Amino acid sequence: MTGKSPTERLGADKGGIARAAVLLRAGGLAALPTETVYGLAARADSDAAVARIYAAKGRPGFNPLIVHVESLAQAETLAEFGDGARALAASHWPGPLTLVLPRRRDATLAAAVTAGLDTVALRCPAHPAMRAVLGQVGVPLAAPSANRSGLVSPTTADHVLATLDGRIDAVLDAGPCPAGLESTIVAVRADGRCDLLRPGPIDVAAEPARGSAVEAPGQLASHYAPGKPLRLDAVRGEAGEYLIGFGPVEGDCSLSPRGDLAEAAANLYACLHRAAGAPQRRIAVAAIPDTGIGIAINDRLRRAAAPKG
Ligand code: AMP
Ligand code: MG
Repeated sequence: MTGKSPTERLGADKGGIARAAVLLRAGGLAALPTETVYGLAARADSDAAVARIYAAKGRPGFNPLIVHVESLAQAETLAEFGDGARALAASHWPGPLTLVLPRRRDATLAAAVTAGLDTVALRCPAHPAMRAVLGQVGVPLAAPSANRSGLVSPTTADHVLATLDGRIDAVLDAGPCPAGLESTIVAVRADGRCDLLRPGPIDVAAEPARGSAVEAPGQLASHYAPGKPLRLDAVRGEAGEYLIGFGPVEGDCSLSPRGDLAEAAANLYACLHRAAGAPQRRIAVAAIPDTGIGIAINDRLRRAAAPKG
């Protein structure tokens, strides 16, 4: 049920985890903490449950969902793993790496999860609360970011409730997400070649995907939109701007006063949510070094700055 009933706020303790698992098993929607951002979970094997994710987010049906699994063994029931994919999973799972792989014909997945593609996106998350829920539910969970489609991703339970309160059954509150940026997405092709579909917390040896076909709508020009014009590489704020700082650029909110990129990634969405709610009509963001996880931060900032197409 995703109608008008209030959203339960659950603690990330034994009782809260058990309650989230009961709701999910019954086909409900629960926002769950992961090491990246909060995910809006539903059982991936149920057409009705997956349809509720799209409805609650207002997400276009052509945008497929990432399926979260408890283990590599569970993942192998859903997709064809070659040696390359297995090696990537072995070195980065559990963790913030999503693998796009050929979907197995006999995979028990709702059709809408893959939006008609013959590939499936799989991730084995590391967050202990998410892992506990996955273990109790016993089936894979489809989970996109727990926000209305196209808006800034949530890194706290309050961010989730800001756009989904009353539209989902529960949110499991485990405090802020440690990495704070969506997973790295890598497509492993049949010939073993890897394409980077979305930069993220994990650095993998993969070429950015080229070509006209947009495979991962996280690649769409406008995404993560704070609802206000956003100026990049700012040295100081101009009149009417909310300034997001980094390092020596102080700002109204700082991604990391000491210039640390991991800290900046963890704070990015909280600062964007604050900027969205501030009285200023425009947002400016200090320059972020384009190295390591800075590449993923700049990817999200460019999309947040892009005009809606
Ligand atoms: P989010 O909705 O914020 O969790 O982002 C999930 C991302 O995974 C989106 O950019 C999806 O398009 C992408 N994705 C999910 N499944 C696939 C797939 N089979 N092939 C390519 N990208 C996918
Ligand atoms: Mg999203």
